[in-house]
Amino acid sequence: QEPLISVKNLKKFFNVGNGNKLKAVDGISFDIFHGETFGLVGESGCGKSTAGRTITRLYDATEGEVIFNGKNIFNLSRHDMADVRKNLQMIFQDPYASLNPRMTVADIVAEPLEIHRIYKSEKEKNARVIELLELVGLNEEHAMRFPHEFSGGQRQRVGIARALALNPKFIVCDEPISALDVSIQAQVVNLLKELQDKLGLTYLFIAHDLSMVRYISDRVGVMYLGHMMELAESEELYDNPLHPYTKALLSAIPIPNPDIQRNKKRIVLDGDVPSPINPKEGCRFVDRCSYAIDKCRQVTPIFQEREPGHYAACHRIGEI
Ligand code: SF4
Ligand code: MG
Repeated sequence: QEPLISVKNLKKFFNVGNGNKLKAVDGISFDIFHGETFGLVGESGCGKSTAGRTITRLYDATEGEVIFNGKNIFNLSRHDMADVRKNLQMIFQDPYASLNPRMTVADIVAEPLEIHRIYKSEKEKNARVIELLELVGLNEEHAMRFPHEFSGGQRQRVGIARALALNPKFIVCDEPISALDVSIQAQVVNLLKELQDKLGLTYLFIAHDLSMVRYISDRVGVMYLGHMMELAESEELYDNPLHPYTKALLSAIPIPNPDIQRNKKRIVLDGDVPSPINPKEGCRFVDRCSYAIDKCRQVTPIFQEREPGHYAACHRIGEI
């Protein structure tokens, strides 16, 4: 199967003064296939949001390629990119901050249609807006209201309707539920799943909540300090994690079944995520890894396939 999106050695660095570089994304590679949900997880500061924004070209990449429809989108002209842009949309974490408070819901949802001059008449455009609102479980009565009149869950529905306006193939969902009440989170995730089936969407789903990612994702990639540490099908990753960092993240998830809890050794993640400014050679996880050996400080482990479809970057896989 051909991937819909191929991310190749993607890098995004920020200059933070005095020649220092913040290496938010430092050479990650993965494919996303048609109709799948690819989960991207890691603690805050691991580079997952920056990766999402660079893949959709909201940020300019420092290095690497994103292949969509057989072309590296970083090389496209402004005109060709405008066309690709319709297919690459984003849903943001904070539905309040990402919606203009002075615009009605109808104007917010219609804005992408205006920008791309898709509709010939006002009537046609308004009909499309109502259609989009209904797709996300809202209706005509919501159209003339303002974002502050809505609950967090409803605002996220508006954000989703807006992202769908141009019939995209691919949507980056950047922590779309982390700002919502727990009671609302499942509703929004189920809506995203429903829309995926109905519209044939492909998602990159960014999150730090591993349990929700497991529920929605076909495959999951685990990032740490700008590097991809592990990647596998969801079930495989959760049942058979190979990387010490993934094991630690998983052991931090509260497990409802007490029998399982007793058998799983909890690995404690000591300390904070180190700074991604001017990172040293070697494994990025070394300061927090209980399996670290001398080699881990000197040589950066290669991200490679260990079992079919299961990739990990660690010097000690097979020993631990
Ligand atoms: Fe730990 Fe070394 Fe593996 Fe890094 S390479 S995760 S420090 S054992
Ligand atoms: Mg983030």
